[in-house]
Amino acid sequence: MKLKFLGGCNEVGRSAILVDDRVLLDYGMRPSDPPEVPLNSGNISPEAVIVSHAHLDHSGMVPSLMVPNVYMTSVTRDLTILLGRDTIKVGKDQGFAFFDEEDIRKMDEHTRTVAYGERVALNGSDYEFELFNAGHIPGSSATYLRKASEDISLFYTGDIRMAETRLMKSAAPSEFPASDILLLESTYYNKEHRDRQEMEHEFIDSIKETLASGGNVIVPCFAVGRTQEVVMILHSYGITPYVDGMGLGVFRLFKNHPSFLKNAKALNDAFNNAQFVNMTRRKNIFSEPSVIVTTAGMLNGGPVLYYLKKIHKDPKSKVLLTGYQIEGTNGRRLIEDGHVEVDGKVVKVSASVEQYDFSAHAGDSELKDLVSRFCKNGTEVVFMVHGEHTNEFAAWARDNIGCEAIAPKLGEEYIIE
Ligand SMILES: [Zn+2]
Repeated sequence: MKLKFLGGCNEVGRSAILVDDRVLLDYGMRPSDPPEVPLNSGNISPEAVIVSHAHLDHSGMVPSLMVPNVYMTSVTRDLTILLGRDTIKVGKDQGFAFFDEEDIRKMDEHTRTVAYGERVALNGSDYEFELFNAGHIPGSSATYLRKASEDISLFYTGDIRMAETRLMKSAAPSEFPASDILLLESTYYNKEHRDRQEMEHEFIDSIKETLASGGNVIVPCFAVGRTQEVVMILHSYGITPYVDGMGLGVFRLFKNHPSFLKNAKALNDAFNNAQFVNMTRRKNIFSEPSVIVTTAGMLNGGPVLYYLKKIHKDPKSKVLLTGYQIEGTNGRRLIEDGHVEVDGKVVKVSASVEQYDFSAHAGDSELKDLVSRFCKNGTEVVFMVHGEHTNEFAAWARDNIGCEAIAPKLGEEYIIE
């Protein structure tokens, strides 16, 4: 089996792994300005692509592929279409175009939705695969792929989380099949998550304190997964937030796929309690102390910039970041330099800024346990992908587990026999 790494090597973004030039695992983009796309984009013609989940860094370039077979869960298909349309819109503003509406229509036509646990034979070849709940966002999957003629198999985690959240059931590693090769995300290598409940309490206390002192709270969130998780947390503590941005459309989409949610009723109740905001209602929001949950999670565009401009001079107000802020984003600038850039202007933020880790990824010890479990079950080679410290993680696995572990570089090819 030949593996070629077209992206997501020693980086978080544009995941794309080509198997035997025939089967593609993910085809993402890094949504920077301008976006970064996988190597050789436009020059590969696999027979099939299996999409792990709908985050742009895994699915964002799928509509650009003229591939005859696209496989993903039903939620991932609906989200990929929604986000693909948004990418077209963003591209019109920023001056790029990787695909158009017609390409999205074709992708949909070529898509076959797959349920967890269903064995699928790939068209006209000797591969078969199966998807497992990855516990990351609704519809997210880990992929087991087997090539019958060589009797060799791989397991690709995609983005994975091994502890449940309010929105998601945990992935279940004990149900994962043994495989010869493991391809493992490494986002939180060497970083352990804090205790979730303790952090929720701190988050809620901070919000209550701010509201009591007459300030407003902005909670920037990714549209897919994080917005819904945070609205559920707020609801469970009796806080009614305003919700603005694409997170609302994503919630409506999730409602159509209740079996992919841990508790569809709890999600519904939380959103029934929230107040939705559109462009015309925005200006009335801060007439009294309020909490607003809005996109973008790293402050790179979206309605969050409108709210930031409104409160940036108010030291009583707060910005509560809900996840990691990658380099080059406004969120990172805000943490490091206390300012953001809006419409080409530097805006100094006097409101206080706090950071919380409501991550949907496995933490350090969970990643290490997973390597150990697979290697005990016969895995011979582990590839560390999708992380900024994959070299260190591979060295850790060689030293501590004794398996062959590799941090592939962009464009590298490996043949496993
Ligand atoms: Zn993801």
